[in-house]
Amino acid sequence: MSDLGPTEITGDYVIRATALDGQIRALVGDTTELVEEARQRHHTSPIATAALGRTLTAGLLLAQDLKGDNSLTIRIIGDGPLGGIIVTADAAGGVRGYVQEPEVYLPLREGKLDVGGAVGKNGTLHVSKDLGLKEPYVGSVPLVSGEIAEDLTYYLAASEQIPSVTALGVLVNPEGRVIAAGGFILQLMPGATESTISWLEGRLVNLEPVSTMLARGLSPADILREVLGESTETKILGSQAVSFRCQCSREKLMTLLVSLGREELANIRQEEGQVEVRCHFCNEVYSFAGSQLEQLIEESGD
Ligand SMILES: [Zn+2]
Repeated sequence: MSDLGPTEITGDYVIRATALDGQIRALVGDTTELVEEARQRHHTSPIATAALGRTLTAGLLLAQDLKGDNSLTIRIIGDGPLGGIIVTADAAGGVRGYVQEPEVYLPLREGKLDVGGAVGKNGTLHVSKDLGLKEPYVGSVPLVSGEIAEDLTYYLAASEQIPSVTALGVLVNPEGRVIAAGGFILQLMPGATESTISWLEGRLVNLEPVSTMLARGLSPADILREVLGESTETKILGSQAVSFRCQCSREKLMTLLVSLGREELANIRQEEGQVEVRCHFCNEVYSFAGSQLEQLIEESGD
């Protein structure tokens, strides 16, 4: 759906909408380019790409409720070979994240990437939200299936008391490149009737996977129409551009190195000569040569 090269500015975005007289709140996102960027940064296998991409998308959808410089972190820690998935998303549409074991390969299950098998069925989904308060908001639930969308639905119901329907998908080509990624959360607002709930469940029965719809060239608004049908008074309230954005920088890492103290830095200088620091979230490597270490040792004072 895009001819943009991997390093082009991302065209991904999330829309917010309501439908059925405010009974349904919808968040729908196309995250294809940022998930491809994550794949390239972390050299993820197809299954790791799918697991990370679903979680990056989930983070951005949940972050639609944040304001200002608030952020949230999703940690999915299962007993499968993937280890853990850690994603941080912010109110401004930035997201970053990684998986602990990016090179996991598992056989397909029923023709699909076995994300549940890679994550594991026993484990926990944690969400912590930094809302600028003294303590972050923290919620966690046991994993339902490790497929991530189901786990997120369960988290929203059990921890935030929001009944919802969630779909998350990542489609990769045989070379492992991301063809489409995205998802939606449809939340039932207080006052949604039983008949709305069963109507919505009925709509979803034969719905195409969200990644297939994106690969067909449907936009988030098209997908919402596909899910809810034409006559549901859908109102798009707004949209937000989203992208893979890390918060690391050479300056931050210099501050970190200086904080180790003069003695520790002098040890590193002597034993290693130079130092390389890798950011977990974006896989960027920052190298500090011996001469730069000398300078940091100067700056670190006593
Ligand atoms: Zn980084």
